[in-house]
Amino acid sequence: MAEYDVIIAGGGLAGSEAAYQLAEKGLKVNLIEMRPQKSTPAHETNNFGELVCSNSLKSLDKSSASGLLKKELMLYGSLLIKTAYECSVPAGGALAVDRVLFSNKITDIITNHKNITVTCDEIKELPINTKTPFLLSTGPLTSDVLAEDIKKHLGDALYFADAISPIIDAESIDMEKGYFLGRYGKGGDDYFNVPLTEEEYNTFYNDIINAPKTAFHDFEKMVYFEGCMPIEAMAERGKDTLTFGPMKPVGLEDPVTNKRPFAVIQLRKENKEGTAFNMVGFQTKMTIPAQIEVFKKIPAFKNAEFLRYGSVHRNTYIVSPAHLTRYFNFKSNKYLFTAGQITGLEGYNESIAGGLIAALQIERLVNNKPFLEFPKNTAFGCLSDYIAGISDFSSGKKYVPSNFHLGMLLPVREKIKDKKLKKQMQTEKAFKEAEDYFNQINM
Ligand SMILES: Cc1cc2nc3c(=O)[nH]c(=O)nc-3n(C[C@H](O)[C@H](O)[C@H](O)COP(=O)(O)OP(=O)(O)OC[C@H]3O[C@@H](n4cnc5c(N)ncnc54)[C@H](O)[C@@H]3O)c2cc1C
Repeated sequence: MAEYDVIIAGGGLAGSEAAYQLAEKGLKVNLIEMRPQKSTPAHETNNFGELVCSNSLKSLDKSSASGLLKKELMLYGSLLIKTAYECSVPAGGALAVDRVLFSNKITDIITNHKNITVTCDEIKELPINTKTPFLLSTGPLTSDVLAEDIKKHLGDALYFADAISPIIDAESIDMEKGYFLGRYGKGGDDYFNVPLTEEEYNTFYNDIINAPKTAFHDFEKMVYFEGCMPIEAMAERGKDTLTFGPMKPVGLEDPVTNKRPFAVIQLRKENKEGTAFNMVGFQTKMTIPAQIEVFKKIPAFKNAEFLRYGSVHRNTYIVSPAHLTRYFNFKSNKYLFTAGQITGLEGYNESIAGGLIAALQIERLVNNKPFLEFPKNTAFGCLSDYIAGISDFSSGKKYVPSNFHLGMLLPVREKIKDKKLKKQMQTEKAFKEAEDYFNQINM
């Protein structure tokens, strides 16, 4: 192993980005990818940087979270985002790509890079005592043997499924249509309750039963266990099941009328500022358009802006706050890094960003330079804080995978009604900080 400066396990989005960045900095990289010797249940080709599902890298709008993240990725010279632009296909305001062209190009660049040696092999063990920088980027479908070995070292800190509830921008919720109250008066104003009449509940019930759902892959069937059941799976057990589960109204009597509603949707503050609320227990397999349609029918959510959508899927990920630092390496061994979906960052852009950040940090370590401290009010800073458990969205909470969203940035303090302008100000400020930091470290 010593003939290489860095070993990378997994040539997906994170691993390919990291390999390229390190190789461009003159480091000798050994990229170990198990395909085609062994594949995952979702990959269809032997290419590096294969997009396993949708061909969309989300919005291009500069004042959206994914727009800002892509701008930061471009600032730092991301190979994958640059290639995505080169392979883009018309998709309204989104960056969608010709996926075959995209991964062909990535594969070409990776396999022909003079500093990258590709090895086809399955990594079976986590090299916990490595002294050569090692990047684990084997993704949400990490092979079973390796996942078992990681679990042996991390114990309960390796999850195989995630169940995510939607997060809504607080300003987009009609606060006149509900009330702040913790169940039985506990929890102060941390919870906002949206009461539903029997009629409203019946409509909602029928809507979620009939809404289109994202299909489960065969390998995802095992993820249904109590505590992370999608709301629609609960609803299928009987019409009233939800009113005994996440929509239970007991202890949530309306403080004005003193009456108990028929059902309640509880929202919990996600951050100190209260700019984002989580729909408690509302993990769902409804498609994103269906989530928008079904939830927006409820008057309090008529204008809801979703910072994160609900989901339930097979996903191998480390409970990162227990094991990782802000620099994407393990607290127990500074040479052992990890990036991509396995760190609990959700999405293509976030996986690419993890690979890029980890590569920058590895280069610092190899060249005896202090780790980079990405400013907190930037997309890279927010992602670094999220995995380390020092973000409001991950600190002291059950660790669930997340995309980058605007709730993670500092809110705009000025009183501005125009939401678009507010987002623009927020993202411009964040990007300015990202640029200033970039210029400072490249001086
Ligand atoms: C079914 C599915 C659909 C998804 N759809 C979307 C979507 O539409 N949009 C979105 O934004 N995100 C989606 N994601 C989430 C995530 O963005 C992608 O999974 C993304 O590819 C993650 O990037 P990664 O680099 O972490 O992992 P991957 O891109 O999966 O790369 C991991 C690589 O490691 C290799 N590998 C695994 N185990 C080993 C081993 N032991 N030794 C060597 N190599 C190994 C794999 O073959 C693979 O090439 C989806 C995830 C899944 C599972």
